[in-house]
Amino acid sequence: MALTLTQAHIERVQAHAEQAYPHEGCGLLVGLFDAVADQKTLVDVVLLDNAWTADVADNLAESGQGNSATMTKARRYCIDPKDLFETQRQAREKGLTIIGVYHSHPDAEAVPSECDRNLAWSSYSYIIASVRNGVAVDLQNWQLDSSHQFQPEPLKIAPASAAKDRMPLVVLK
Ligand SMILES: [Zn+2]
Repeated sequence: MALTLTQAHIERVQAHAEQAYPHEGCGLLVGLFDAVADQKTLVDVVLLDNAWTADVADNLAESGQGNSATMTKARRYCIDPKDLFETQRQAREKGLTIIGVYHSHPDAEAVPSECDRNLAWSSYSYIIASVRNGVAVDLQNWQLDSSHQFQPEPLKIAPASAAKDRMPLVVLK
């Protein structure tokens, strides 16, 4: 597929990724799947707090998935299930759905990690923003192929006017 979005969406993601630095920032991509045109259209980026905690790391370490001491917010992100539920609920009210996830890689390439791959869902878009020394320097988009490997997914920049009549989504805490 391809992901259509605006330059404003990219700037919003990069600004959030810079704010989150040196931690990973994350958020959900809300929009539409268009199977006929074989593309996804991003309507809004819902920016979230990184819900990664020592408890999440300990639970994963106990189940043999890595060392909790090295798994911190600088290297991992976690989306609170409550945020996911609330975002999906608000999206449905507008006839939209969650089409992907954004997160940032502080001082690392905008390339998915093995952990990112294990947790990824097919058909979602995975936008990764690389932030070096607090400045967003790269942004790439990925999607799983049929063998559960990440492949680059093309980004199509649409004119801002296409999305401007939509109200932004807000996650209430
Ligand atoms: Zn990652």
